[in-house]
Amino acid sequence: LKSPYHGGHLEVIVGPMFSGKSEELIRRLTRAVIARQNVQVFKPALDDRYHSAAVASHAGRSLEAVPVRGAAEIRAHLSGEGALLSAGAADLPDVVGIDEVQFLDPALVPLVLELADAGVRVILAGLDLDFRAEPFGFMPDLLARAESVEKLTAICTVCGAPATRSQRLIGGEPARADDPVVLVGALESYEARCRVHHEVRP
Ligand code: ADP
Repeated sequence: LKSPYHGGHLEVIVGPMFSGKSEELIRRLTRAVIARQNVQVFKPALDDRYHSAAVASHAGRSLEAVPVRGAAEIRAHLSGEGALLSAGAADLPDVVGIDEVQFLDPALVPLVLELADAGVRVILAGLDLDFRAEPFGFMPDLLARAESVEKLTAICTVCGAPATRSQRLIGGEPARADDPVVLVGALESYEARCRVHHEVRP
């Protein structure tokens, strides 16, 4: 008896900034391309570090991607407006990869579950924690529902230990917990930090 299992599932790659999430996503997607699978890559349009239409890693590797402003645009791109993905109406790719998923919206969660149910291998990469080291938006929901979760670490810029957190600096000083996520005109930067060297000003 042939199993009706179609292989659709959800993989999530998380960790702080500089932990190699984009590199790992690119690695997995490149292997799928080598296996002659049909691969479709997306990324939030607002993230335009290095290249606007590519998933790019800090080390310089990149892969072509469709920039989207939200989950609805991914759905529209895959199915045409309003089509039911799981109804088999759409000619779905074998693999869908999405980088920086924390910048999309909660509608991403039901969308990726629908894709996995329809037989698609979905690979997501994003931040598990925000700069305060609090769970980032809907990421916990994705992590709980995924078949596979990989947590990566970076290197702490202070002590060289494995870094699990993203340190936000404003004018060189640790950001405050209530600083707005988008600061216009401020000199802002991020560093990978371990539990001990991660700092949030009260
Ligand atoms: P992410 O997508 O998680 O932000 P990237 O894949 O874009 O990570 O970049 C990872 C690369 O960043 C590493 O392979 C390394 O070359 C570089 N890098 C720069 N700073 C650090 C750091 N503090 N810790 C680890 N890697 C770093």
